[in-house]
Amino acid sequence: MSEHSPHSMRAAVRSVRDAGRATVLVIGGGINGIATFRDLALQGLDVVLVERGDFAGGASSASSHMIHGGVRYLENGEFRLVKESVQERNRLLRLAPHFVKPLETTIPIYSTFSGILAAPLRFLTHRSGKPQERGAALIKIGLTLYDTFSRDGGSVPRHRFLGRKKSRAELPALDENVKYTATYFDASMHDPERLALDVLLDGLAANDRARALNYVEAVGRTEDGVTLRDRETGEEFTVSADVVVNASGPWTDLTNAQLGQQTRFMGGTKGSHIVLDHPELLAATKGREIFFEHSDGRIVLIYPLKDRVLVGTTDIDADPSEPAVCTEEEIDYFFDLIHHVFPQIAVDRDQIVYRFSGIRPLPRHEDTAPGFVSRDYRVEIDDSRSTPVVSLVGGKWTTFRALGESLSTKVLELLGRGRSASTTDRPIGGGRGFPTSDAERREWIGAHLAGAGDRADVLLARYGTRASEVWAHIQKGEDAPLADGAVSTRELAWMVENEFVVHLRDVILRRTSLAFTGDASSEVIDELADALASLLGWDATRRHEEATQIRQELGDRHGVALAS
Ligand SMILES: Cc1cc2nc3c(=O)[nH]c(=O)nc-3n(C[C@H](O)[C@H](O)[C@H](O)COP(=O)(O)OP(=O)(O)OC[C@H]3O[C@@H](n4cnc5c(N)ncnc54)[C@H](O)[C@@H]3O)c2cc1C
Repeated sequence: MSEHSPHSMRAAVRSVRDAGRATVLVIGGGINGIATFRDLALQGLDVVLVERGDFAGGASSASSHMIHGGVRYLENGEFRLVKESVQERNRLLRLAPHFVKPLETTIPIYSTFSGILAAPLRFLTHRSGKPQERGAALIKIGLTLYDTFSRDGGSVPRHRFLGRKKSRAELPALDENVKYTATYFDASMHDPERLALDVLLDGLAANDRARALNYVEAVGRTEDGVTLRDRETGEEFTVSADVVVNASGPWTDLTNAQLGQQTRFMGGTKGSHIVLDHPELLAATKGREIFFEHSDGRIVLIYPLKDRVLVGTTDIDADPSEPAVCTEEEIDYFFDLIHHVFPQIAVDRDQIVYRFSGIRPLPRHEDTAPGFVSRDYRVEIDDSRSTPVVSLVGGKWTTFRALGESLSTKVLELLGRGRSASTTDRPIGGGRGFPTSDAERREWIGAHLAGAGDRADVLLARYGTRASEVWAHIQKGEDAPLADGAVSTRELAWMVENEFVVHLRDVILRRTSLAFTGDASSEVIDELADALASLLGWDATRRHEEATQIRQELGDRHGVALAS
């Protein structure tokens, strides 16, 4: 049995419970808690990470899947953040090429000058009245600066501007009122939750004293330490630490309250997305992200991913104690946006295969409009008690490596220790030795996935170069396809043994893309429930509960109606 299987996970919980202490306790297994965990593990520290749900199941599962500099944040005067983001984007294209890919992005522009007067005002005050559409001049300035930040990496080409005629020649379905297009490169993240898993596995591999537990929640604090609850068994136990890191994303204030500290750091906003199975819209994007502003000034993206079209997003003040869901009004809004850019393409609710929503862990923002709240991050340290609590406020997906390094540096300072390892040039998980050209790819597949046939591409896309270990495991026993060949029995066994799978939902929502692409049918759920029951020793009642739970979650949170 591998050290990350659910059975050994419960054993790991017992071992953390019995030890009763760690040098650092990180609360929250989203990408930022995980990145901090990896950095601390690389310094040789005794570090424990606890996540109350599945890893990367919070805000980290709800992003627009972009690794981007955030050209728009220039308007807020966030030069530090944009520079760091562009550098991190270039770095991730190099260190995690299995999941982070260059993405050609086109902004359709309807006017020459709009927004240009409002922008410098916002720039000075960091707040806004009514947002409005940006014109060509402002976008040109922004993209020129963006290119400047990118110069050192040279990872992506510079931006280009086209007039109406040439724009329509490139994107014929575009609204004929579009005057210009600006095209530049950012990056897309194909499987965020799997990338988070790779960062986590790298942290665990760095050091035997680094341990990570999912389905374990921080629920309180006593003189002896932080009270943790194993959500699988209900058991509570205490772990003391020299430093506690609160990386609970949008729930940071709520976690602090559980730790006995009242804070008002956070002011998260909800953002939703829909995923459409719409071949005509997919073809209209020509493989690009269409990134623009609606007439109300909000940012919109229409974006091909996994043969589907991702459309987002909204930005609405939200209460993190309530589950975030994509509402019917938000869907109407998305349909308006699609019509705004591609007026000839009809969209229908039947074409939505998945919807998702999450809360951005933004800082408290008083009267600043949601779209203009800083996307930068900071740390807050409470050292009023014997164990300091370091709270993370903010932090995008794009900057997770730099954030993990900076948060870990703060922790090392508190511990009076130095840094012994850096993540700056360290490849991530299956990005190590990942073949990027066609020739390298053919050679790599020939050497490591011989006999895998059509599955080679799927395995390489899902695991990067870790695919060689997965394929070796698959070949060691009898294998049968599951979910119309999307996975197989031996591959599922691999996930169970190596990827912290505790529930059926973990596989359907995060270890595979079955939910995202709309392929989690009732039959697929039953088939996977049966396969997992035999791998995990579930009895009939547990198997039924697992299938019911994911059906309900798909219905309530993701708008997927399934026959029970
Ligand atoms: C709609 C939307 C679009 C976005 N698009 C992008 C994008 O395109 N690019 C980009 O770079 N960023 C994007 N972001 C931002 C990015 O997704 C988040 O900022 C990032 O994922 C935050 O990660 P985190 O680890 O800080 O928080 P989270 O991922 O929320 O992790 C916090 C974790 O803490 C856990 N937790 C909470 N309380 C406890 C407790 N008491 N005990 C144990 N665990 C606990 C939660 O279960 C959760 O998993 C987007 C966000 C949203 C919502």
